[in-house]
Amino acid sequence: MSKVPYRGSCFCKGIQFSLAAEPRACANCHCTYCQRSSGAPFVTWAVFQKLDLAMEDPSALLRWCQSSEFSKRAFCGSCGTLLFFESELCVGELHVTYVSVEGLAQKPKYNCFVDQKVDWVTLESDLIPLSSDSQELGHYRKVQSLSTPE
Ligand SMILES: [Zn+2]
Ligand SMILES: [Zn+2]
Repeated sequence: MSKVPYRGSCFCKGIQFSLAAEPRACANCHCTYCQRSSGAPFVTWAVFQKLDLAMEDPSALLRWCQSSEFSKRAFCGSCGTLLFFESELCVGELHVTYVSVEGLAQKPKYNCFVDQKVDWVTLESDLIPLSSDSQELGHYRKVQSLSTPE
């Protein structure tokens, strides 16, 4: 049974939101942008439409950071939680950090950009691996991997 609308928030709960649909897809992203912007080895994303989102940000805490030529990421300006991703490469989509949403029924189906993953991360065999040159990653293949810090 669907739990729509889903509720979500950042760590400090200064930003809350609801999502009026099931995600179109869920995936782990191992790309270097997700690694470096989150400080974690990979990020699990749930893909929604921007139209599905209703924001509750009474203290105007949400901050957007241009993370590449095409894309931007949103964080809570108070607690730092990474919440959203938007890109010219997928107009109309809103990617939401999976664990910021309560009770999603759908589990991740893909491991994306596996060729960029941290080498000690072990991939679950029931998820479909997609490398940087996979057709399924479509327009995202335009984005060059970040070089590793010296
Ligand atoms: Zn916060
Ligand atoms: Zn990524």
